[in-house]
Amino acid sequence: MIQKGFSLIIGLTYLGGIFEKEYKIKLYGPSDKIIDKGLMHSCQYVTSAPIFATPISKTTLDLEFFEIDDYKFEINGIDIKLIRQEHKGGSVGIKIDNQICFFTDTKPNANLIDFAMNVNVLIHEASSLDFNEKAQYHSNIYDAFYAAKKAQSKVLIPTHFSHLTKEADIQNLKKYQSIDFNFIIPNEGENYYFDGQQLLQ
Ligand SMILES: [Zn+2]
Repeated sequence: MIQKGFSLIIGLTYLGGIFEKEYKIKLYGPSDKIIDKGLMHSCQYVTSAPIFATPISKTTLDLEFFEIDDYKFEINGIDIKLIRQEHKGGSVGIKIDNQICFFTDTKPNANLIDFAMNVNVLIHEASSLDFNEKAQYHSNIYDAFYAAKKAQSKVLIPTHFSHLTKEADIQNLKKYQSIDFNFIIPNEGENYYFDGQQLLQ
């Protein structure tokens, strides 16, 4: 499932090295009925020069695209819901089986908190680690904490840190971990499992 965040699509271009060739990759994403430019346009745009060297049309990956027109749909019996976020050009938040919610590239918004109410795992962008920094279309770490607390999610995974953020400052977020506020700092390429209460590595 691809959210219309260009940074997320870039990951596609090196998935080829991770997946075996026999896997078909099915990409689901919003159409231009939901956001300004749909999934296909976003993939083509971000994988073209000068941003990236291999356009999606030349990839050796076995890809299939599904542009979604509705805010609710199913993938293999798994219930998916979308919500439009506040971001230039549009972006969507995703809820999977009412268990996992993923917000990225968005200004904080009370509707998102309602949408995420009682999910087990909330993945939330935190472009800035400065509690007071207010970007036009992005959230900071305080916004992520606030959303997780209000939505009563069991685990928060902050993500989408700015490239200007120092690794030491990200690790320093551990000081906010406490019994009543469960969150983890994700590591690239690591798998996590939710056991009903907490996230395990
Ligand atoms: Zn953005």
